[in-house]
Amino acid sequence: MKELRGISASPGIAIGEILFYTDQHTAVPRYSIESEEVDAEIRRFREAVEKARAELEELKEAAARENNKNGVDTRFLDSHLLMLQDPEFVETAEIRVRERRCNAEWVVQMVVHEIVERLRAIDDQYMRERSVDIHDVSQRIIGHLMYRDRISLGDLNREVVLVTHDLLPSDALSMNKRMVKGIAMDAGGRTSHTAILARAFEIPAVLGLSEITRNAHGGSEIIVDGNRGRVVIDPDPETRSYYEKALQEQRRREVELMSLTDPPAETRDGKLVQLKANIELSEEVEAVFAHGADGVGLFRSEFLFLDPGRLRREEEQFEAYKAVLEQMDERPVTIRTLDIGGDKVIPELDGQDEKNPILGWRAIRFCLGRQDIFRTQLRALLRASVYGRLRLMFPMISGIEELTNALDVLDDVKRELREEGRTFTEDVPVGIMIEVPSAAVTSDILAHRVDFLSIGTNDLIQYTVAVDRGNERVAYLYEPFHPAVLRLIRMVVENGHAAGIPVGMCGEMGGDPMATAVLLGLGLDELSMSAASIPEVKRIIRSITTAEAEELVGTIMEMRGYADIDQYVHNVMRERFDVTAY
Ligand code: PEP
Ligand code: MG
Repeated sequence: MKELRGISASPGIAIGEILFYTDQHTAVPRYSIESEEVDAEIRRFREAVEKARAELEELKEAAARENNKNGVDTRFLDSHLLMLQDPEFVETAEIRVRERRCNAEWVVQMVVHEIVERLRAIDDQYMRERSVDIHDVSQRIIGHLMYRDRISLGDLNREVVLVTHDLLPSDALSMNKRMVKGIAMDAGGRTSHTAILARAFEIPAVLGLSEITRNAHGGSEIIVDGNRGRVVIDPDPETRSYYEKALQEQRRREVELMSLTDPPAETRDGKLVQLKANIELSEEVEAVFAHGADGVGLFRSEFLFLDPGRLRREEEQFEAYKAVLEQMDERPVTIRTLDIGGDKVIPELDGQDEKNPILGWRAIRFCLGRQDIFRTQLRALLRASVYGRLRLMFPMISGIEELTNALDVLDDVKRELREEGRTFTEDVPVGIMIEVPSAAVTSDILAHRVDFLSIGTNDLIQYTVAVDRGNERVAYLYEPFHPAVLRLIRMVVENGHAAGIPVGMCGEMGGDPMATAVLLGLGLDELSMSAASIPEVKRIIRSITTAEAEELVGTIMEMRGYADIDQYVHNVMRERFDVTAY
């Protein structure tokens, strides 16, 4: 039995068989090894080379048979096989493992990178072609070192717990969700997009484990405890039975909470809070209803674009927005315009090769730069507006100029539609996300130009505390109760209210039951979250008064550090509201 600790990214417990997953886009892990592990690591490397060799021989034989029929050239396989015997590669890799005490897959990647760079520098066609072969072979070896399962997650036909170094949002999106019972990952933080999708799909997940791929093997049993951020590999019988009981208790609690879907989210003194759902796909609308949401507070439209090979055309987008608006009927739906960049990589679109993508050409910056894409989306959105209660929202606004530019494009698109004689809701409400500190600080100026503000804490915390939301190494600094974050939230709420507009929150903090009382005390009008979090947040709102929440905020605003605030709020929420951290 082996227990590892990571970050609770999606609540719940899963017990199942490991599926070790990686694909060629997934980053190769890097970790140090102890000196006594060096020989074993070199053996592991040699075994992987041997497996790659056997695979290539097999391919060669099969190709030779085919060759007789259709004349396929198999000479490239020979150069792949030669590379596996090339001392420049094999010996250098072994020496590096020994000297650097680093895992073999990382070393292979490093050595191959050096060889390829050298070959590319030579002005010779043959040498350049060889560099492609070398890269190819290295992928084969790395695949074996990482126990690469060559399967597509969309084709899963048995229940598994996914163990992986990292997962692209497009992989998470395309996987067969019914078969993935849990996710355990080396990389990722609580607000990374894998985490957001795991919560949307209600799949328990522990991320930021750093070393899970080093410790787990496909086929073993694993427990993912998304409540406490732990995973247990090959559990002993006692641990297993403990978690089986916890799983039963979890199901009982789910049934109990679902009885809360109908009553409104109203405090004991009668303050109503809008509880809405965050969605990424139109298929999630069913869950939105099932959990009793008052509407959709954030539809992350970029996920429509993540489907490989499908940069959506106006018609396709129009249909997707219309479907959600129609299904939600009279309930409001806030659709956010394209927010790509950061960890939401869309390979078809450029701008991903930046040194610092989190601070780069993303979200509204991208849209204002690629107005062809932005205008197409706005056209589709406006045309869909007549099918329900659409609210438009721009992401990553950093100041008034950017907002003015976005509003100008919107006006121009409206004019164009009018000229074409298309119908749309003229006064569709427009809001912005407050997720950049400069926007929070100037929210008094911004608030006068829009109909609502929605605080995106995932990015706001990232930019305020300067901590990459997806980097497990600095995850300990990712603190929603940091006084700087709390002060910014308070400032935004006050500025929004002074301008007479509502202020909501659609970052993950909005759905964290541990933060509910604080957010109520800070005066937020709307909280938008993964649909599954709604019943628990509603339970807390229904058992508190605004005075009590304001008193709590009064106390924590006097405190100096997040550690003290965190502990204080945790104690209150546990004792007074029976909330357990997840
Ligand atoms: C946020 O930043 O809080 C947010 C809701 O947007 P996303 O997580 O999609 O960046
Ligand atoms: Mg954001």
